Amino acid sequence: MPDSNKTIDELTRLITNTYSNPDLELISRAYSLAAASHNGKMRLTGDPYIVHPLAVAYKLAEMGAHINVVAAGLLHDVIEDSEVTLEEVQEQFGDDIAGLVDSVTKLKKVKYQGADRYVENMRKMFLAMASDVRVVFIKFADRLHNLKTLYAQPQNKRERIAKESLEIYAPIAGRLGMNELKGELEDLSFEHLYPREYERIHDIITTKIREKGAYVSRIIDQTEKYLVEHEVVGAQVHGRVKRLYSLYKKLGKYENDLSKVYDLIAVRVVVKDVEECYIVFGMLHQKWTPIPGRVKDYLSQPKPNGYQSLHTTVFTDDGETVEFQIRTQEMHDLAEFGVAAHWRYKEAGMSPIKNLYWMEELAKIQKELSDKKDFMEQLEVMKIDVFKDRIFVFTPGGDVIDLPEGATPVDFAYAIHTEVGNKCTSARVNGLMRNLDTELRSNDVVEIVTDKNRKSPNADWLKFVKTHHARSKIKDATRSTMKGWLSSMMGRN
Ligand code: MN
Repeated sequence: MPDSNKTIDELTRLITNTYSNPDLELISRAYSLAAASHNGKMRLTGDPYIVHPLAVAYKLAEMGAHINVVAAGLLHDVIEDSEVTLEEVQEQFGDDIAGLVDSVTKLKKVKYQGADRYVENMRKMFLAMASDVRVVFIKFADRLHNLKTLYAQPQNKRERIAKESLEIYAPIAGRLGMNELKGELEDLSFEHLYPREYERIHDIITTKIREKGAYVSRIIDQTEKYLVEHEVVGAQVHGRVKRLYSLYKKLGKYENDLSKVYDLIAVRVVVKDVEECYIVFGMLHQKWTPIPGRVKDYLSQPKPNGYQSLHTTVFTDDGETVEFQIRTQEMHDLAEFGVAAHWRYKEAGMSPIKNLYWMEELAKIQKELSDKKDFMEQLEVMKIDVFKDRIFVFTPGGDVIDLPEGATPVDFAYAIHTEVGNKCTSARVNGLMRNLDTELRSNDVVEIVTDKNRKSPNADWLKFVKTHHARSKIKDATRSTMKGWLSSMMGRN
């Protein structure tokens, strides 16, 4: 089913209603350039191409992203799909927006080359972008719309995109606390990847809603009245149904025993402050009996990801059970939007939600990555202030190789394989022959020409290589030939 397409008017309306003092002229200019660039192009769904950047920008505006990010969302496919250059984007929209568009464009160059390598590549790219989380927001919004229109793609592509989203995008969204987005990514992927399981879970949920829906609505009404009677004013009480993929995973854990899943339909109570959370919590326990072992205070003891709420499952008057989740608005925004909520608050002129968790999380992701490299490279990574001075270079097959600034084709060759380094004779950079001491730049596509008869690297390369890795390999190789030469001399004596 096609997602309902957004128009520029709807985007403008959303921005007008939710942003304070938005630069609408910027949005209008970005839209004009995007519309002109994609003019005449169609999506496989049969829609004009512009619906895609519009959907991406709309999602970013819903997330409350900075207006520059929304504009970059409109422009995110312009460089790849049209004659427009990065320089033109820069002239018309400035460095910030051009930088965002450029980063998103780079992220697209990573091609699928077998699961392991691809995952590794994606991690690297995400890491590189970790210095600017806004790029990841655009990428998420882009992916979300592509998933929504996946039905138009051929089967193999559908599977690949769904798998990537489930294995890479959703977990990263989760780690950034963006649970709403993570859930959307998971459910859309789930549907394409495991259609039969999806159907099964979908049936379970619809049946359950049919059975319990009226009951939960009654509980919501009772709770609302009860709170008002006891002078808790302005609380919002909603029902929330568990997401499909999340239920699927939970059922897997409990050997498909549905009776063990207490939070299939839960009631959420959003109140004004922490004190009121505990007041409501106590009130609910006075009215209904809590199930032992199901009372959880994630408010004073947040989950490791920073999640805060009070949870309790109670027996209601008719012997049925229901889970309550009690939190403040800020905790709610945090649980749904994670790191994006931080910006949302900041943009709205409110004090941004402080959660050191994401910063630590980003540092942790960076550490995990460096753990995989060998010891010397690890040292190098730590030394050079994580990715700040790195460039990202591509193999002709689309693999990403990250190198320090100023790195040369020889560094690149050694990063691929010692033998490629030892036997390299020349390099093609973006299709043109270049000297081996040429400084590479981010985004270059580099192809190494090797000569299999070549015995050893040139010791002169030591004068220009930048990576410790290449340096030590060159030393190793030249030392061993020297040794070979010495021992043959000695043998002769
Ligand atoms: Mn796109």
